Amino acid sequence: MSLTVSTAPPKGKTVVRNIGLMLSGDLAQPILDADCIVAVDGRIDSFGAEADLNTAGADTVIDAKGTTLAPGLIDSHVHPVFGDWTPRQNQFNWIDSFLNGGVTTMISAGEVHLPGRPKDIVGLKALAVTAQRAFDAMRPAGMKVHAGAPVIEQGMEEEDFAEMARNGVKLLGEVGLGGVKQGEEAKQMVAWARKYGIQSTIHTGGPSIPGSGLIDKDVVLEADADVIGHINGGHTALPLDQIRCLCEQCSRAVEIVHNGNELAALYAMRTTMELGQPERIILGTDSPAGSGVQPLGILRLIAMLSSIGEVPPEIVFCFATGNTARMRDLDVGLIEEGRAADFVIMDKAQHSAGGTILESVRMGDVPGVGMVIVDGAVRCGRSRNTPPATTLPEVVG
Ligand SMILES: [Zn+2]
Repeated sequence: MSLTVSTAPPKGKTVVRNIGLMLSGDLAQPILDADCIVAVDGRIDSFGAEADLNTAGADTVIDAKGTTLAPGLIDSHVHPVFGDWTPRQNQFNWIDSFLNGGVTTMISAGEVHLPGRPKDIVGLKALAVTAQRAFDAMRPAGMKVHAGAPVIEQGMEEEDFAEMARNGVKLLGEVGLGGVKQGEEAKQMVAWARKYGIQSTIHTGGPSIPGSGLIDKDVVLEADADVIGHINGGHTALPLDQIRCLCEQCSRAVEIVHNGNELAALYAMRTTMELGQPERIILGTDSPAGSGVQPLGILRLIAMLSSIGEVPPEIVFCFATGNTARMRDLDVGLIEEGRAADFVIMDKAQHSAGGTILESVRMGDVPGVGMVIVDGAVRCGRSRNTPPATTLPEVVG
């Protein structure tokens, strides 16, 4: 098993200096005029020109050596089970691998791969509470995993949602993966979940694996979940005219996943951008899945959407950071004072044809991760999974 990290409040001061490019995660100003950032007790304290900041007394000083700092990436759609193991492809340390891909926060869309997963109401509630507790108490490799996302079944009543909410459940697993597949029934349960502060995601498109089913645009629109989960299918996408309807006829989050249909991904992104609503776009991998487990899934998706989709990379990085944080009400994903000091430090990959990291991403290359920081603490140095970064940051004090 990979190193696990407790969730005790972090202590100390961390300074990252000599930053060549700082990405904010915020669509309103994706590139910040700043070369230094200071974190105190795991939170962003200040950022800007180093000369203007109080960098004295730091416990950790990192020289970014002119490379790029961005908020830690958020994977809006994962299917964890317990610890750093997935039975879906029987892999260990997959979460640690994602951390090496720049991801610092993951959102469960249901612990659906648990062998023998209970489908009775008492059992599914108990699993949700257990998964929420387990990942809240222990972070594989330091990753923040928001789990405990029950797959709703027929016969659930309002009190079931109230009870789960009282016990710490904040997410629903993908609506449609269980027995609730009709719009009317899903709508009622999504509304109960929302009433008690539980956020919902709906499976969109054809069946993912034998046993799951089709959820078309009429069901998605009627259910009105907070997130149009994998609008580009997981893997089988709806027809493009239905994807357009989903973008146009509701205001919910448009989630694009790595393990989906790439053509539909590009279409959904372009349609949402044309509507002038880029803040709705969020990214996930939808892994582990039948398609596999992709440690670089979010970076690959960023490179794909930016290059083939022709959207500036600093904008696409916002889809995987600030947009998701705002949509899911998380205290990460943006370079703002008071937010969690979760960062990924990157540079263009060695021998990329692009002259800068942004050019390299725009040309479809995945950047090299040089360091990942969670709550102000260094969780990995040079990534063991990305192509090597041209220049690496260094802990200098
Ligand atoms: Zn799904």
